[in-house]
Amino acid sequence: MGKKLAICPGSFDPITNGHLDIITRGAKVFDEVIVAIFNNSSKQPLFTVEERIHLIQEATKDLPNVSVDVSEGLLVDYAHEKKADVILRGLRAVSDFEYEMQITSMNKKLEPTIETFFMMTNNQYSFLSSSIVKEVAKYKGSIDCLVPEVVAKALREKFK
Ligand code: ADP
Repeated sequence: MGKKLAICPGSFDPITNGHLDIITRGAKVFDEVIVAIFNNSSKQPLFTVEERIHLIQEATKDLPNVSVDVSEGLLVDYAHEKKADVILRGLRAVSDFEYEMQITSMNKKLEPTIETFFMMTNNQYSFLSSSIVKEVAKYKGSIDCLVPEVVAKALREKFK
């Protein structure tokens, strides 16, 4: 069997400790993990793609088999192009479930050869999202235990 490559897709606006938990654990299961930033057209991002790349690179710099990339368009096309084996997604609360089911079944239809794997988040991150982190940071609340150090710094800078 060849090396197993997993794509971990998302907006990562910005990367949180919840994302990092999934990426770190995924990097132990798969030979290689590509964290792929997809520009979600329905969301107005706080960080530019370049800033998001930088933050993910810094947050994952101790994980040698993790790299960062950007893509527009369909996730399955990207996964196909990269010859990925797996799409890796994190599951938080039940609220994620329906949305993820919908995307996964569509992806399966579009590209039957790629499998989607879900990893349940660590309990402490069940209610953590990029949006809530941004909301707290906006009002100068403490976000230090929710995001990597470099992200906390970048958020403080944004909302200065
Ligand atoms: P998207 O816009 O595609 O939902 P996100 O950047 O919000 O992108 O999330 C990317 C992936 O990370 C998704 O699989 C999401 O479920 C997962 N994720 C987000 N926050 C957490 C968390 N706190 N714990 C575990 N997984 C998470």
